Amino acid sequence: TATRPRPLIAGNWKMNGLLKGVGELEAIASGIAGGGAGHAETLICPPFTLIARFAAAAAGQHIKIGAQDCHAKPSGAHTGDISAEMLKDCGASYVIVGHSERRTDHGETDADVKAKAEAAQRAGIIGIICIGETRAERESGKALEVVDVQLAGSLPPGATGANVVIAYEPVWAIGTGLTPTTGDIKEVHDFIRAKLIAALGEEGHNVRILYGGSCKPSNAAELMGVDNVDGALVGGASLKAADFLGIAAAY
Ligand code: PGA
Repeated sequence: TATRPRPLIAGNWKMNGLLKGVGELEAIASGIAGGGAGHAETLICPPFTLIARFAAAAAGQHIKIGAQDCHAKPSGAHTGDISAEMLKDCGASYVIVGHSERRTDHGETDADVKAKAEAAQRAGIIGIICIGETRAERESGKALEVVDVQLAGSLPPGATGANVVIAYEPVWAIGTGLTPTTGDIKEVHDFIRAKLIAALGEEGHNVRILYGGSCKPSNAAELMGVDNVDGALVGGASLKAADFLGIAAAY
């Protein structure tokens, strides 16, 4: 059996956080410096407006900074958009692509998500590709089918464990306090692992598969203990240093 990749605990701040939030980031960084994240890699993805500032504050600390979206093109006439190259330029090393809120709010398709993941590769940052079924899809027994289609449609050519992370986030678990059973998470993560190996060969073992959706300190050890769960994508609980550190402590 292959060695497990280094786990990643990633915080997605969504549209939350003002400049004064740098204090929370510093609290997270000092908790991690004190050994609070075990052997996990840690990442905070604040809004675009805070990336440069946070990246400067995180320099030399054991925490990385990422973004929540990027445009597929490197530059050009795209008013209001931000490219992966710009993210890299201001200190981001990761970008979340295809979060369900972007798929819903901005109509992003799997092809869009794939183009953004390719943009991340091109710029030299790591794309965190989000996939996951809705409540109706799960109830009608289509969860694996939905995940299969999204993964196949969003995974860029040349994906490796060094340039891509997959986040399985059941839409109905995001911000609801609901989580799938560990059995259901294992089923989906094992399925994603098998698909990654089918697509990428042995390299498929190296791609981290995060679980996301209502992750908190009280359920982190249970969720992170599931086979093929290589970390978490954390929304609400990443906004408070104590909660984020409580999740990271699962490792
Ligand atoms: P949540 O969000 O942890 O608040 O459920 C997770 C996410 O949307 O990434």
